[in-house]
Amino acid sequence: NKKILLVKRPKGLPAKDDFKMVEGTVPEPKTGEVLVRTLYLSVDPYMRGRMNDQKSYVPPYPLNEVITGGVIGEVIQSRASELDEGDLVIGNYGWQTMQTVDSAQLRKIDETIAPVTTALGILGMTGLTAYFGLLDIGRPKPGETVVVSGAAGAVGMTVGQIAKIKGCRVVGIAGSDRKIQYLLDELGFDAAINYKTTKELKKALAEACPEGVDIYFDNVGGEISDAVMRLLNPHARIPVCGQISLYNLEKADIGPRIQPLLLINKALMKGFIVSDYAARFDEGTNQLAEWLKQGKLKYEENIVEGFENTIDAFLGLFKGENLGKQLVKVAEP
Ligand code: NDP
Repeated sequence: NKKILLVKRPKGLPAKDDFKMVEGTVPEPKTGEVLVRTLYLSVDPYMRGRMNDQKSYVPPYPLNEVITGGVIGEVIQSRASELDEGDLVIGNYGWQTMQTVDSAQLRKIDETIAPVTTALGILGMTGLTAYFGLLDIGRPKPGETVVVSGAAGAVGMTVGQIAKIKGCRVVGIAGSDRKIQYLLDELGFDAAINYKTTKELKKALAEACPEGVDIYFDNVGGEISDAVMRLLNPHARIPVCGQISLYNLEKADIGPRIQPLLLINKALMKGFIVSDYAARFDEGTNQLAEWLKQGKLKYEENIVEGFENTIDAFLGLFKGENLGKQLVKVAEP
C-alpha cells in the first residue's frame, strides 16, 4: 500500500519535494468499515488552497499526513451491512492505493447511468458546481450572453453547455488553440478566446460579446476577470467559482477596483462552494444525467495512468494540461 503525504507547505507552484510517497500497512476493517482498493482519484485546483496554512472553507491539510480528496474505489472486504465486496464506491478519502474507510463516508456508485469515472466529474463535484453556480446564481435567460473563464476545464465546459441548453450566447476563455477549437467545434460555443495568445483581451472580448456580458462565470480571477468586468451589462450576475490564477501567488495581487462597475451596473457578484447545495445534489445529478442521456451534454476526462503520477497530474492543472476533468487511474476496475 502506497500513500502520498504533504511534507512541506508549498511556496508558489508546488514542488515535487513538498510531497512524499511512502509505503504503509492498512488496518483491518472494524465493524462499520470497509477495505477499499483505489481505482481512480481526483486532483482538483482547490487542493492547492488546502496546502497552505490558512483559514478557508475547508481546514488545511496537516503536514506529514495523507492528502485527501475525491476517490473512487472497489470494496474488497466489507464489515458494513450496506456495502458488499465488489461494490464501487466514491468518497472523500486518501491519496492512497488501499485503505480502510468508515462506510458512512462512502456512497455506492450506480454504474448503469454512465461510466464510473463520471462520479468524480460531470455527475460529481465539478458537474454540480457548474449546475448550481450557473443556474442558482447566474440565472441565465434565453438570449443573454454568458462568458466563462477556465472554459475548457471540468467546471467551465459544463457551464458553457448548460448555458447553451438555456438558450444563451456563450463565450469561453481558455489557454490553448486546441481547447478553443474544441469549444467551438465540439461544444458549439459561439466564440472562444485564447487568453495566452490574444494581445488585447478586452478588445477580443468586446468583439465576442457585441451585446455586453450578462453573466460572467469566474473560474480563474486575475486579469482575465478584470477584462470581462469592463463589459458587464446592467443587472449582470457573476458567480465566483474559482480563482485559479491566484492560487500559487506568494503575494496578494491587487487588481483594479471593480466596485464602481458593480454599482453602476447594479450587478450581483456572489461566491459559492458546491457543498452549499448538498441538499439538492440529487436534483443536480439527475438533471445532468438526463442531459447526458439526451446527448445535450458532453464531457471530457484527461486520465493520467499510475498512482506515482498523481503529483504531476495535480501540477498539470496549473499548466493547463487538461481538457475536461483531470483524473488519475490507479488500478483497473
Ligand atoms: P479545471 O479542469 O478547469 O482545471 C484547471 C484549469 O485552469 C487548467 O486546465 C487551466 O486551463 C486553467 N488555468 C490554470 N492556471 C491558470 C491561470 N493562471 N489563468 C487562467 N487559467 C488557468 O479545474 P476545475 O474545473 O476543477 O476547476 C475550475 C475552477 O473552479 C477552479 O478555480 C476551482 O478552484 C474552482 N472550483 C470551485 C468549486 C466551488 O465549489 N466553488 C468546486 C470546483 C472547482 P487553461 O489552459 O485554460 O489555462
